[in-house]
Amino acid sequence: MRKLIKVTVTLISVLLLSNCSSAVKESPALKLYVFDCGEITVKDISLFSPGVDIGKSKTLANACYLIMHPKGNLLWETGLSDRLVTMKKGKKIADGMFHLQVNHTLSSQLNNLGLQAKDIDYVALSHLHFDHTGNTNLFVNAKVLIQQQELDLAFTKEGEKLYFDASTYNEIDKSNFIGLDGKKDIFNDGSVVIYPAGGHTPGHQTLLVNLAGTGSVMLSGDLFHFTKNRLHKRIPALNFNKADSLSSIDNIEQTLIDVDAKLWIQHDLETFKSMKLSPEYYQ
Ligand SMILES: [Zn+2]
Repeated sequence: MRKLIKVTVTLISVLLLSNCSSAVKESPALKLYVFDCGEITVKDISLFSPGVDIGKSKTLANACYLIMHPKGNLLWETGLSDRLVTMKKGKKIADGMFHLQVNHTLSSQLNNLGLQAKDIDYVALSHLHFDHTGNTNLFVNAKVLIQQQELDLAFTKEGEKLYFDASTYNEIDKSNFIGLDGKKDIFNDGSVVIYPAGGHTPGHQTLLVNLAGTGSVMLSGDLFHFTKNRLHKRIPALNFNKADSLSSIDNIEQTLIDVDAKLWIQHDLETFKSMKLSPEYYQ
């Protein structure tokens, strides 16, 4: 009789345990999608690497990223404006220094995943340059997460001088902007964490995403624009503050070692071409 009870108890615990493990497997895991949010050809790339490659042209990728978390959908960057898609030959700005091209709208890439702009709960922007904020006005339901220093300048003349383009985010209700004070663990579980990295602009920031299979990935914002600049620690002439840029680079490089993360340089065309694009994803 005792033996029978023991066997029954063991069976019940095995059943309970297997139930538990299947529940864990079924819970939605963190997913990261990479979107093509345009391309920028720079006429003279020495603008980004002073004294080096003078007069040489270089094309930069412009990526956006969707992070699906059980507690909400977060978009990191909103890219070049979707309106550019109608310009088949692209658009030249700043006396031809930059040529902008959009081949796929951000909206259509979200739609392909069954999502609308209203389904985005958070938009986090590395900074307020136009190539990172182009479609922000679409996301009227989202909380917009930027550093407080960046928010303080968002609608000012001073911000305009720093190449902030308020026309790309001025339709968002002011109460939806959240000014962050440094590091921010967005979902309070350590999976998606903003790191301050000022210098390129006053409140520039990067994003760490801890993926179960892929490992930890840091999305660079404009900490670097391409790999060679990372190797030689070159600071673009247009950066707001060179000393801050250099100390942010040191801080983020140290963080990458501490948390064992890879850095994805968002504008680096070679990196972008090696990525799985949405609807494929990283997990
Ligand atoms: Zn920038």
